[in-house]
Amino acid sequence: MLRTNNCGELNISNVEQIVTLSGWVQKNRDMGGMTFIDLRDRYGITQLVFNMETNAELCEQARKLGREFVIQVRGLVIERESKNKKISTGEIEIIVDSLTILNKSKTPPFTIEDDTDGGEEIRMKYRYLDLRRNPLKENLMLRNKVGFAVRSYLNKMEFMEVETPYLIKSTPEGARDFVVPSRMNPGTFYALPQSPQTFKQLLMISGYDRYYQMVKCFRDEDLRADRQPEFTQIDCEMSFVEQNDIIEIFEGMAKYVFKEIKNIDFKEDFPRIKYDDAMRLYGSDKPDIRFGMQFVELNDVTQNKGFKVFDDAELVVGICATGAATYSRKVLDKLVKFVQKPQIGAKGLVYVKCNEDGSFKSSVDKFYSQEDLKAWADKVDAKAGDLILVLSGDTDHTRNAMNELRLEMGERLGLRDRNNYAPLWVVDFPLLEWDADNERFHAMHHPFTSPKIDEMHLLETDPGKVHANAYDLVINGVEIGGGSIRIYDKDMQSQMFTHLGFTKEEAQEQFGFLMSAFEYGAPPHGGIALGFDRLVAMFGGTDSIRDYIAFPKNNSGQDVMISSPAGIADGQLEELGLTVNAPEEK
Ligand code: ASP
Repeated sequence: MLRTNNCGELNISNVEQIVTLSGWVQKNRDMGGMTFIDLRDRYGITQLVFNMETNAELCEQARKLGREFVIQVRGLVIERESKNKKISTGEIEIIVDSLTILNKSKTPPFTIEDDTDGGEEIRMKYRYLDLRRNPLKENLMLRNKVGFAVRSYLNKMEFMEVETPYLIKSTPEGARDFVVPSRMNPGTFYALPQSPQTFKQLLMISGYDRYYQMVKCFRDEDLRADRQPEFTQIDCEMSFVEQNDIIEIFEGMAKYVFKEIKNIDFKEDFPRIKYDDAMRLYGSDKPDIRFGMQFVELNDVTQNKGFKVFDDAELVVGICATGAATYSRKVLDKLVKFVQKPQIGAKGLVYVKCNEDGSFKSSVDKFYSQEDLKAWADKVDAKAGDLILVLSGDTDHTRNAMNELRLEMGERLGLRDRNNYAPLWVVDFPLLEWDADNERFHAMHHPFTSPKIDEMHLLETDPGKVHANAYDLVINGVEIGGGSIRIYDKDMQSQMFTHLGFTKEEAQEQFGFLMSAFEYGAPPHGGIALGFDRLVAMFGGTDSIRDYIAFPKNNSGQDVMISSPAGIADGQLEELGLTVNAPEEK
């Protein structure tokens, strides 16, 4: 090897040893008689010393080394005079007696420092340089550690990793597919899996009763901080289980990983909340329960007092922000503006300040007496010093807006501490979701999800009311994973496709293979998939999954480093039997 040690491991116990190190020049400081170089590798930084008096020629050479040159040095480990407590090698330095330049480097386009001067765009273009920086290196190390913990747990629990193909046919997870043309079968296309859903179900039929896979999934959706066109799932499936069994096993996994990564012990079971209750109390299917501030419905104490806005509303709902009665007019106006943002879409916001003297000051004093407001306060359990915030309108939009406002208030009141983790299960999701644009039902999870058997009869009369054996793991308001108990009976699956608006032929064409498989002894089964990138980002304390992926895409789905996506040669197109309409000039 071109080194005896790495740049992060030498300490006082190595003094007087002759060592060889290889690495990158992080910093070169010429102090006249002496030159100091910080040598960096993945493990850390070691200080090298070149002395003009003892070895002028070598010192001259060292002075000329540029940033990011790759060098190999040999020298003696000595105790440092001025110690650096901040780094593990801070008590020693190396008096170099031989230096080899292994490779030169151009001056990098941005500084390879923790706080770099490089903007996002340039760092994406030179991602391989950005990855040399500590923050990204630590993120990838965290990713590796979380992955290791996940695998250890699953292997201990007898899960077996099985790979499934990437070149498949569409899997309906609700997004658009990425497609790949087939040369050997002109005019036909593979689709990249949005998840290995049907394959893992087939594996259950094959008898591999505990499957997992750390697997890339591909979804052509609009991108956000927590979305990438290709991302990694911890994909799992089990046979002979019910909803409760899956929840227990994967709660065990979450607890194991929290212990390994954060040394946090969750002694209690994670709370479980039904989807309907989550929507009623938090207006969200992924509630952040690090703080309370639950919704309280106020129709009975607010309506029929002459305030038309409330009287006409399907829902009047309030939250109590503890200690926020001191908010100034300016802050309250900001909150009004916040809920009126187009993406939130509330018309207005009513507030009530609970004064220290027991009186109330509200934005609707014209319509409501002090007694009326006292009734609101009692209902939302507001005390002197608290602020009551009220929204109204149709149920879905109002809940949605109140969810945003609640999160905003949680943020303002410092209740969303990143180092506090509050996991929960949201269970019993609706089976179907009404798509108003297309006037049809969609599967809320996916078409393979089993309805609650005792609600099956409603499928004919009131399909929107049927719930599913479907569950999500939510941590701090982020959906970390989701899954369901599956249908394993051919007739039921075929009925489900009908409810989802598939003709018999379409269902047969797309999923005939699965329904045929169900006829050969399919065991009861169910599973879950967890977003690995999101899980790691959560442990890292940010929302941006991009920072935890070695080579991510930007918000336009491009990899600017390799310039992808890109056109292909005419010859390739021809071979594939494709013609491309001239793309618009950029
Ligand atoms: N395939 C599902 C998804 O990607 C997860 C599951 O049902 O296991 O969301």
